[in-house]
Amino acid sequence: MVIIMKPHTPKEEVVILKQRLQEENVEVNEWDGENFCVLGLIGDTTKIDESKIEANEYVERVHKVQQPYKLANRLFHPDNTVIEVEDQIIGGRDLTVIAGPCSVESEEQIVEIAKLVKKSGAGFLRGGAFKPRTSPYSFQGLKTHGLELLKIARQETGLPIVTEIMTADMIDRFVEDVDVIQVGARNMQNFELLKELGKTRKPILLKRGLSATIEELLMSAEYIMSEGNENVILCERGIRTFETYTRNTLDLSAIPAIKKLSHLPVIVDPSHAAGLWWMVEPLAKAAVAVGADGLIIEVHNDPANARCDGQQSIKPEKFDRLMEDINTLAQIGSRNIYETINI
Ligand code: PEP
Ligand code: MN
Repeated sequence: MVIIMKPHTPKEEVVILKQRLQEENVEVNEWDGENFCVLGLIGDTTKIDESKIEANEYVERVHKVQQPYKLANRLFHPDNTVIEVEDQIIGGRDLTVIAGPCSVESEEQIVEIAKLVKKSGAGFLRGGAFKPRTSPYSFQGLKTHGLELLKIARQETGLPIVTEIMTADMIDRFVEDVDVIQVGARNMQNFELLKELGKTRKPILLKRGLSATIEELLMSAEYIMSEGNENVILCERGIRTFETYTRNTLDLSAIPAIKKLSHLPVIVDPSHAAGLWWMVEPLAKAAVAVGADGLIIEVHNDPANARCDGQQSIKPEKFDRLMEDINTLAQIGSRNIYETINI
């Protein structure tokens, strides 16, 4: 962090500020010019509140040279984080593919889809039991019954399950029943929920907020990690822009950016990004090409009658073909799709 003092700042004010900064356990270097002074901070500045320094009437400007996140930062953790769930490895050489319906609707529905996506090579089953819907009149999910149905689908196929949590009071139940806990885009900055999830050791799939910057996403990961849970998987799922043709705009540049800034695995959700089933395939391929560690894709056996997000769900046959193409593409980038034993 670099602090530029206002011209003609009294010497004693610089001394007071330096003393205050040294109390934060950082080394403060001073450069004095004719009538200006610059302070350079060396050490861990993540806990220093920049706005407090800016509030000092003698401070002209503050420049951050370090990112405000530490645990999620590749600078302090050069190797990729690899997360193991059952026989799946997330963030390694193999691509992680999570597939399933937007929401769990019935036992027949979830079990049938689970069997089909597994046959095509998916490593995880997704399905929402608690659904964050824009309208309170839309289907809100089967809730705890949905969790029970997901468990049946897991038992039938062996696929680990990924499902979204909405409130902290459900954490114990999710830790017990679920393999990867999803935090949806709308809850990316529900800091109390993030902190509570940080006290568990469950892998957390953290989706990027609708209007969140990459830095904000990484700061949300930091919330989870700072409580001790380092098993965070980031998810780019499209952001809101001026474009209305697609549901969101898939920010493909976020993938190489996050890979550069952080050691955490990053997966892409082309379904929520596009909001259009026919765009899922090209966007999934693009995500693999730019280095995503995996994909989360909505697959439904009867999209026209889906209770949620049918318009962006692909049918199992299409998913099967997509998996073949992705496997070919992945190998060009020296990666693989982790093969599960077909049932
Ligand atoms: C979902 O995965 O079904 C979902 C609601 O996603 P998002 O939070 O990205 O909108
Ligand atoms: Mn959905």
